[in-house]
Amino acid sequence: MTENTYTPAALDRSATVYVAGHRGLVGGAILRKLQDEGFTNIVTRTHAELDLTDRKAVFDFFAETKPVYVFLAAAKVGGILANNTYPYDFISKNLQIQVNVMDAALEQGVDRLLFLGSSCIYPKLADQPITEDALLTGYLEETNDAYAIAKIAGILQVQAARRQHGVHWISAMPTNLYGPGDNFSPKGSHVLPALIRRYDEAVANGTEVVTNWGTGSPRREFLHVDDMAAACLHLMEHYDGPQQVNVGTGTDTTIKEVAETIADIVGYTGKVEWDTTKPDGTPQKLLDVSKLKGEGFVPQYDLRSGLEHTIQWFHQNKDSIRE
Ligand code: NDP
Repeated sequence: MTENTYTPAALDRSATVYVAGHRGLVGGAILRKLQDEGFTNIVTRTHAELDLTDRKAVFDFFAETKPVYVFLAAAKVGGILANNTYPYDFISKNLQIQVNVMDAALEQGVDRLLFLGSSCIYPKLADQPITEDALLTGYLEETNDAYAIAKIAGILQVQAARRQHGVHWISAMPTNLYGPGDNFSPKGSHVLPALIRRYDEAVANGTEVVTNWGTGSPRREFLHVDDMAAACLHLMEHYDGPQQVNVGTGTDTTIKEVAETIADIVGYTGKVEWDTTKPDGTPQKLLDVSKLKGEGFVPQYDLRSGLEHTIQWFHQNKDSIRE
């Protein structure tokens, strides 16, 4: 079957929507967004209730709930260390989750599905800012290549479902995300929540020197997860095409500037040292977001307001954040 002409439109607020991974950073934000937008029939299952690697359970769940729309934000996700240590788990679990959910969605005739990947699908040495066309043009970053290959397979699966079955499924590739629900644990957290926690604890403990990893010079792009969720809904309502869409702000900041902004917000006035014996990683990582902009989406948070919002959430939820 070939792709037919189709114009995406507003999603039906009373139709059944399945948000996979609703307790995660992204899935949680999508759930809040859909609730705010008046969706009345959102179905969710925790990992304990439905293990998405259990193929039969996934098929039974889809047959029972018959979702009309699916946001696939469940994945085995981790930082460099976890990806590097457990590459088999990252490729195997993510492939299983994607294949099971998409096969079951196909069986139930789900016509609108959004698959979430990550900017690590792009080649390590891709030109900056990275356009969608950079996919499959070079070698991947070795530390997370197994995870990235699973995500690339997901994009291809979406494209193949469109070609063979005529469904209107799409893929979105977010940049680094942060916000309420993030992982602030010292072991598992990404750079931004790690910095927030470090500076916040320094203020609470009266620490005089804070030491951060690397030189602080790498440039990174950060998107508030509520903007990510809004972009997901926007794409489901406005975009229909086989190519994945980058989701980011289109601007990047040095880690040093990010750290200074966090220090300013939490009120840290002590010394800051940079441990230059620790690796910096790639000097710049920035997505080209022209395609997303072309679809009419503009993020609401700049980095400072997004950080203020996240730090406020962190203060309110310190006792219950995931470790
Ligand atoms: P999280 O780890 O915060 O959330 C993932 C969710 O998926 C968790 O609720 C987790 O449940 C669930 N999950 C994992 N495995 C299974 C399973 N076998 N069965 C059922 N549920 C499962 O990840 P994020 O929200 O950060 O990421 C979601 C998506 O967004 C991913 O595809 C990721 O690649 C993408 N993304 C995220 C970025 C970021 O900066 N956070 C950046 C770019 C992309 P549990 O915790 O109970 O296992």
